[in-house]
Amino acid sequence: MLGAPLSRDPVGPPSSRYARERERMVEGQLAGRGITDPRVLEAMRKVPRHLFVDEALRDRAYGDYPLPIGEGQTISQPYMVAIMSQLLRLTGSEKVLEIGTGSGYQTAVLAELTRRVCSVERLASLATRARATLEGLGYTNVWVRTADGTFGWLDEAPFDRILVSAASPSIPAPLFEQLAEGGRLVLPVGDAFSQTLTVVERVGGEMRTTADSGCVFVKLIGKYGWEA
Ligand code: SAH
Repeated sequence: MLGAPLSRDPVGPPSSRYARERERMVEGQLAGRGITDPRVLEAMRKVPRHLFVDEALRDRAYGDYPLPIGEGQTISQPYMVAIMSQLLRLTGSEKVLEIGTGSGYQTAVLAELTRRVCSVERLASLATRARATLEGLGYTNVWVRTADGTFGWLDEAPFDRILVSAASPSIPAPLFEQLAEGGRLVLPVGDAFSQTLTVVERVGGEMRTTADSGCVFVKLIGKYGWEA
């Protein structure tokens, strides 16, 4: 074969190239489209998204779309990660529950934005890989567990913020029960094909919901989600 030898370096080409792609992603796909929270922009400028996908997909990691991560699941589009992170309104002191760890990319962004992240993934193979990626990057404020996340994480409740990155037919009751007073829950609610990003707040024990934008996620499968 002609040309440069194939690189066997697991990190791929020099990270400065990925840093440039990240910068382009933040400017073009996020800041350019109304993501204004400076902490969210900073976190996404920092987290090496290419390390959360298969080596063969690394060169597409900063594209404006979701990518497959195995098991029929996807890493969300960067813009979707940004908008959900922004809707959570994190200041840094919150304890966050995430449902649907997947690749662990959104988990890493949350770990940059707050003090403690508990993340639940239903598929053990994805949870194991995400845990290894997050550990490899040095995150020490993240806990990943394999379970049906529609039950929440009772031992760690209450949570100041909860993020669900899979499509739910309704608001899972345990998640609202585990939301702290004044807390925010962000999740896609709808049918299997399209959903509305929904913000649920707990005010005086009452549920207040606001509809944000339209979105398309893989299904939340579990007791309070879709049947397997
Ligand atoms: N934020 C992730 C998105 C992964 S896709 C990323 O960017 O990589 C959604 C994930 O939710 C999938 O990995 C799927 O297995 C998981 N999931 C679906 N139902 C679940 C449930 N009840 N509990 C926990 N995880 C679930």
